Amino acid sequence: MAQRIAILPDHVANQIAAGEVIQRPSSVVKELLENAVDAKAKTIQLIVKDAGKTMIQVIDDGTGMNKLDIRLAFERHATSKINLAEDLYSLKTKGFRGEALASIAAISHVETHTRTSHAEISHCLKIEGGKIKDETLSTKPEGTSIKVKNLFFNIPARRNFLKSYNVELRHIIDEFHRVALAHPDINFLFFNNGSEIFDLSSSNLRKRISAIFGSKYENHLVPIQETTSLLTLDGFVLKPEFSKKTRGQQFFFVNNRYIKSSFLHYAICEAFEGLLRPGHHPGYFLCLNLDPKTIDINIHPTKTEIKFEEEQSIFAILRSAVKHSLGIFQVMPTLDFEHNKNLDLPYNFRDKRPLNLPIEVDSSFNPFTNSSVLLSPKKDEHESLLFGLSIENDRNYVGGKDLMDVPQHTRVFQLFLKYIVCPLQTSILLIDQSRAHQRILYERFLGSITVKKSSSQQLLFPLELKLNAQQIEEFKQTSETLAALGFKAELKNNQTLQVLGCPEHCPETKIEDVIETLLSGENTDRSLEHFSQADKIAKSLAKTLSIKTGEFLMAEEQQVLLNDFFGCKETNVSPFNKPIFITLEKSEIERKLN
Ligand code: ADP
Ligand code: MG
Repeated sequence: MAQRIAILPDHVANQIAAGEVIQRPSSVVKELLENAVDAKAKTIQLIVKDAGKTMIQVIDDGTGMNKLDIRLAFERHATSKINLAEDLYSLKTKGFRGEALASIAAISHVETHTRTSHAEISHCLKIEGGKIKDETLSTKPEGTSIKVKNLFFNIPARRNFLKSYNVELRHIIDEFHRVALAHPDINFLFFNNGSEIFDLSSSNLRKRISAIFGSKYENHLVPIQETTSLLTLDGFVLKPEFSKKTRGQQFFFVNNRYIKSSFLHYAICEAFEGLLRPGHHPGYFLCLNLDPKTIDINIHPTKTEIKFEEEQSIFAILRSAVKHSLGIFQVMPTLDFEHNKNLDLPYNFRDKRPLNLPIEVDSSFNPFTNSSVLLSPKKDEHESLLFGLSIENDRNYVGGKDLMDVPQHTRVFQLFLKYIVCPLQTSILLIDQSRAHQRILYERFLGSITVKKSSSQQLLFPLELKLNAQQIEEFKQTSETLAALGFKAELKNNQTLQVLGCPEHCPETKIEDVIETLLSGENTDRSLEHFSQADKIAKSLAKTLSIKTGEFLMAEEQQVLLNDFFGCKETNVSPFNKPIFITLEKSEIERKLN
C-alpha cells in the first residue's frame, strides 16, 4: 500500500519541536529568565524545586501581558519581538523565535499570572501538555510569574534521561550565572528547595562577578576596554596567577547575550600565552557590543553559538586588547616560574620520625639463609620493585628497621628537579618524585576514608572560605567523606565554610587550594558509589598536595620520600596509572658503552 503523507497534529509537532529547544530543566530556566529580561524587569526571582525536576518558577516585575497576549504567547511562532524579516537583523532582545513558551507548555504543566502596568487585575492561564485547562482572573502584582511543573511528564524517555540532582542543578546554576552576569543592572534572587542560593542586587559587572564567585575575585580582575569602529569590548580577565585548572569562568557576551565560541576563546588563549602554568585555563568575562547586522545568532536552536561577519578582525582586536591590558597591569613581573615553590610550601619532613615506617617486617626472617631478602610479608607487591637488588652483601637491607639507611649509604640524589636517583648494586632506579608522592598520599587518604580513622590537625586560626552556590551543594554531598579524611569544616549561614581542622598531611597553606579542587564539582556526582567517590577524592587530594616536578628536595626529604614509597602497597604505577620508576640495569649500561 502506498504510504500517505499526513501533516502532524499540532500537539505532536509541538512536542517534537520542544525537544529541540528544551533539553533539560536548565533550558526552561534560560528561556524564562531571558523573557523576563526582555520584558525589562528590574527584579527577577528564580525558584526551583529538586533541581527543576519538580518545579521551576520565574517571577518578574516587567511589562506583563494583556488578556489577548497571554494566550498568544503560548502559540508557536508567536512573538512580540519581530514583525518583519528585516527585524531579524537588528535584534536587541534575547528571544525572537516565539518558540520557547509553546515548547515548554507542550511538555509540562504551566501556570502563568501576568499583569500590565495599567491593569487593575492580573490574568491567569493554566496549560497542560499544550492544552488550555483554565483561564481566570487573579490578584498578582504587576509583571509576570510563570510556573512550570512536571517537565517532560508526557515524554518519559526524556525524563528518564535527566541526570542526577547535582548535575541538573549545576546546569541551572550555569544558566543563571550567564544571565546574571550579562545583566548586572538587574536584581536577581535564586532559591532551590526553599533555600536562598543567590541574592544579587543591581550593580556593575565587577561587583556582580564577585557577588557570584566570591569577594576575592575583585582583586584578581584585570579590566579590558577597547573601542573600535567594529565593536566595543568591555569586561575583565582573571590575572594569570589566579587561573584555574578547571575551565570554570569563561564568559563571552555578545550584545548582552551569553555565547560560546571556541574561536574567540582561542584569541584569549593566545593573549595569555606564556603566562599560564601548565594545565591552567584563562578566566574571562568579556562583553562585546557590535552592530546586530554583522552577526548571525540564528545558527543554533538554543542560540549559544554565533557567526560573525568580521571574524578575523574580532579575533585580532580581542587578542591585542587582552595582551595589552595584561601588560599594563604588570601582571607579568609577579609571575616567576623559576621560583622555588619549596620555600613557601614546605613539604615538611623534618619533624617526621623516619622509623615510623608503614613497613611490616618479617621478624622470623634470617638473612643468611637466603639471597633474596623479604622486606615485608607482602612479598609479591614488593618483589617487582626490589627485584634486582642484590642484597646478599649489603647488611643495610637486612631487617626492615635499617631500611632507612639504604638511600643514605647509597647516596640517592635528585635529578632535573624531577627524579630521585637511587643507585643499587647492579642497577639504578629512577623514581619520579611527584608520582611516587602521589602514590604515598593516595594510599594514606584512601586508608583514612575507608577505615574512617584519620588524624586531623587543628588549625590555630580557623579558616573562613566563602563558597559559591555550587560549591555549597558539593560540600553537602561530600561532607562525610571530607570528615573521614580529617577535614573539620562547618557551613555557616549557608555561605561560609569554616575550616577548623585538616588532614595531618595537608599544609595549612594548601587548604584553600585543596578545598577548591575538592568542591569543583568533579568528585561529587551522586551517581557514583561511595567507594568511587572516596577514590576520586583521594586521587584529587593526592594530586593537589603532592610534591611537584621542579621542587627541590633536601637529602633528608628524598630519603623519607623513598622510604614512604617503599612502604606502599602498589609501587609500579601512580594513582593515575602512570609508571612511577624505571630501572636501568648495569648490564644495559655496559652494553651501551661497549
Ligand atoms: P520569544 O521570546 O522568542 O518572543 P517566547 O515563546 O519566549 O518567544 O515568548 C513569546 C512572547 O510572550 C514574547 O514575545 C513576549 O511577548 C511574551 N512574553 C513571554 N514571557 C514574558 C514575560 N515574562 N513578560 C512579558 N511578556 C512575556
Ligand atoms: Mg523567549
